[in-house]
Amino acid sequence: MRNFNSYSISEYRQWLNRQSVNRRVTHIQIHHTWKPRKTDYTGERTILGMYRYHTETRGWTDIAQHITIAPDGVIWDGRNLNLDPAGISGHNRGGIMIEMIGNFDAGEEKLEGPQLQSVLAVVHLLMKRFALNQSHIVFHREHAGKTCPGTGINKTEFIRQVNQWKEEDERSVDDVPIDPRRFSDVPNNHYAAEAIESLAKLGIIQGRADGTFGLKDPLTRADAALLLYRFLEYLQNER
Ligand SMILES: [Zn+2]
Repeated sequence: MRNFNSYSISEYRQWLNRQSVNRRVTHIQIHHTWKPRKTDYTGERTILGMYRYHTETRGWTDIAQHITIAPDGVIWDGRNLNLDPAGISGHNRGGIMIEMIGNFDAGEEKLEGPQLQSVLAVVHLLMKRFALNQSHIVFHREHAGKTCPGTGINKTEFIRQVNQWKEEDERSVDDVPIDPRRFSDVPNNHYAAEAIESLAKLGIIQGRADGTFGLKDPLTRADAALLLYRFLEYLQNER
């Protein structure tokens, strides 16, 4: 199964710095999903839904976008940075594609709060990494008969906000605590670590309130029933 990883701003910066990108990146594409809306977002399941739509329905080789930014500010990775995106028909060469989850057409949802902060931070990081400036920011609608990334987003204002973003701001943004998969008592090399992480990510198994998993806690018959029930529910919701 295709796997996606989530990052806070600072984690994404570190991750981006470690990537070697061999193609020439010439512009940053800004998109909104339109659908799913912000209120449809359910974590990795939403990203996997897009992945399946792009690969199975559209027949693309991978998810279209390099980066997806969630309503809570979480940054998801996506398509390999060495590949052009599938974002703007005829204008994908050299693009880095950001997809913002939400419908930002006027009167619908608003790009604000942690999501806006993460979008600005990521655009800023990409500009720095690929030596781009504000003239290299492209809204989908500039090349298509679409409203993407939403009529509620004014490009001049967006660029003003990008230019205003400073690295010092990064520190003032609360780093979103993300990865619920990581339990403090589960070492990476534990034989069940991957199973525990994957099941937690899908919401099938949960940790304890104190952030630990409880590796040696016994499982009751009631717990077993609950686990199987959540698994069935997951299978039913899958398609
Ligand atoms: Zn678009």
